[in-house]
Amino acid sequence: MSYDPDNIFAKILSGDFPAYKVYEDDVAIAILDIMPQAAGHTLVIPKSASRNLLDADADALSKVMPVIQKIAHAVNSAFAADGVHIQQFNEAAAGQTVFHLHFHVIPRHDGVGIKPHTGEMEDQDVLATHAQKIKDALAQA
Ligand code: 5GP
Repeated sequence: MSYDPDNIFAKILSGDFPAYKVYEDDVAIAILDIMPQAAGHTLVIPKSASRNLLDADADALSKVMPVIQKIAHAVNSAFAADGVHIQQFNEAAAGQTVFHLHFHVIPRHDGVGIKPHTGEMEDQDVLATHAQKIKDALAQA
């Protein structure tokens, strides 16, 4: 299957669709998931276009991993987490719903489960507060 440039993350990358962006560099952006599985659920989205891991350029993949690590440290600190869960789906059969490569970065707490994937939309005020907490943690890193 080929990359569809009209996907929602391409529109967020181009600035044609809004998002709570917490980080940007030459390689990727990081935004809050609008249906978070836990508070602070962040998506790292490489700027390089691919549907998912399977068709991604290996060089682009190697460049995005340090961004994932940076965001993992930030959400870990911002939400006083006990751990950080990284997840990434490839094609619909594996649970992928948006077809531009992205990595889920989810702060986790001991004994606390997460909500379903693509569950309920979070309140905008809550997302704004969480985005600021992550930006503050990045600024202190
Ligand atoms: P996937 O299923 O493709 O791995 O994950 C896509 C994620 O994007 C889901 O967790 C879903 O909640 C999130 N999502 C879907 N549409 C939007 C959107 O318009 N904005 C943001 N920020 N997240 C979205």
